[in-house]
Amino acid sequence: MNKHGHVLNGLLLGIGLGFILAPDGSVETLRMIVAVTVPVSLGALFPDIDTEFGRHRKTLHNLPVLGMFIAFPFVFDNLHYVWIGVLTHYVLDVVGSKRGIALFYPFEQEYGFPTGVATKSQYTSVVTLVITATELIIVFTVVYGAGRYGWTVPAV
Ligand SMILES: [Zn+2]
Repeated sequence: MNKHGHVLNGLLLGIGLGFILAPDGSVETLRMIVAVTVPVSLGALFPDIDTEFGRHRKTLHNLPVLGMFIAFPFVFDNLHYVWIGVLTHYVLDVVGSKRGIALFYPFEQEYGFPTGVATKSQYTSVVTLVITATELIIVFTVVYGAGRYGWTVPAV
């Protein structure tokens, strides 16, 4: 996916997550949107740094990098929710674009779905919106489905 798609995905995902996590429409909803949108958007932009340093769709587009972002908050109590942005970047590249990513880098094999479009296609925004909506439906289902079993999402 191109930069525009990743920015759009990060912003919409952050806003949607804010409403899912604090749905009452109060100041708390606005606070949650800001608290989630900023780190998710930053994470959504991070992997493409490898266009300048390293090998694009390999160096920063793999499961070890995602694992480091998931572990970071537990180790340093910092960068919460950034991993969601990194993960959604991978999803957009794997599902939404023709070229896959090297999930198991340094192994070179790139993995992708046949559902993607070219990064310069006129349909990139539509594909981005469909993928973002699907991600939000999954999160909504997990958050509210888990609540039925007594699980709760920790506050930001
Ligand atoms: Zn990418």
